[in-house]
Amino acid sequence: MRISIDKQRCKGCGLCVAFCPLGLISISVELNSRGYHPAVIDDESKCRGCQNCALICPDLAITIEQ
Ligand code: SF4
Ligand code: SF4
Repeated sequence: MRISIDKQRCKGCGLCVAFCPLGLISISVELNSRGYHPAVIDDESKCRGCQNCALICPDLAITIEQ
């Protein structure tokens, strides 16, 4: 699976972090251009493509490709 998180669109709300059943997403220490700490995928190779993260994101910042 390929997970893409649009860092500029992300507002760092943490919903995707909370809803990934495998705990693969965390909040970056870096800031995006809007002053938010964006979500990052820690180990994409472990993703099983459940799409929880993409579906829960209120800003449509996550896309998943197989
Ligand atoms: S698709 Fe599922 S397993 Fe993969 S990062 Fe998103 S919530 Fe986690
Ligand atoms: S749910 Fe969306 S806006 Fe919230 S931290 Fe995750 S990617 Fe960013």
